[in-house]
Amino acid sequence: MNFHIMTLFPDMVSNGLSESITGRAINNNLISVNTVNIRNFAGNKYGHVDDYTYGGGAGMLMQAEPVYKAYQSIIDNNNLADKKPRVLYMTPQGTPFNQRMAEELSKEEDIILLCGHYEGIDERVLEMIVTDNVSIGDFVLTGGELPAMMIVDAVSRLVPGVLGGEESAVYESFYDGLLEYPQYTRPEVFMGKEVPKVLLSGHHKNIEKWRYEQSLQRTKERRPDLYEKYMIEHEENR
Ligand code: SAM
Repeated sequence: MNFHIMTLFPDMVSNGLSESITGRAINNNLISVNTVNIRNFAGNKYGHVDDYTYGGGAGMLMQAEPVYKAYQSIIDNNNLADKKPRVLYMTPQGTPFNQRMAEELSKEEDIILLCGHYEGIDERVLEMIVTDNVSIGDFVLTGGELPAMMIVDAVSRLVPGVLGGEESAVYESFYDGLLEYPQYTRPEVFMGKEVPKVLLSGHHKNIEKWRYEQSLQRTKERRPDLYEKYMIEHEENR
């Protein structure tokens, strides 16, 4: 799976993703992260890609042309014209990103992520190239680089082979609409606190039951919105 990231700060993105599991996935050719510096497409020798907003207001806006040219270079250099890949614009005005979106995106072959900066990007180029507006939460960051890295991380770990044998995306929080149960590792007693007995019993059915109950309880306490949704979808559990 190939991620193409349009950004003014390519090193921030590639350095961040070159570590840990995403780094291993890149080295094993399971994913590729191709950063494209929008500044390379500036129409002036100073590398300026931003300008004042029409109508006034504080702050600068990224211009349409360098963004469009950067997009076109990705399409041309990767023969993507016929494939029409999805183009995700990172924006606080987008659909909130979630695990279901990550699962859906993990089935794509190529995804283009567009990172804004300053006050954002000229609306005209967004209308021309963006297929999905995606937000990572109801707060405003200085740029789209962290959101893009989060999305690449969440999507990559669902690509077959990216998680090793000991790691698994199944049974994790959100996998089936519930938060994950609490987990423990050695030692059996830490500062007087014991691992729940059932987990040491070797009785798989009881362990499964305990984990399911813990998942339900935790979701009810921490995410009542998810709990309600789950209970409606699993009416028989009421
Ligand atoms: N003026 C914009 C607005 O009010 O919607 C915010 C611009 S923000 C300072 C600069 C860039 O950061 C945005 O273009 C976007 O790419 C990114 N960004 C900020 N917050 C984000 C969020 N919650 N989710 C995704 N991207 C975000």
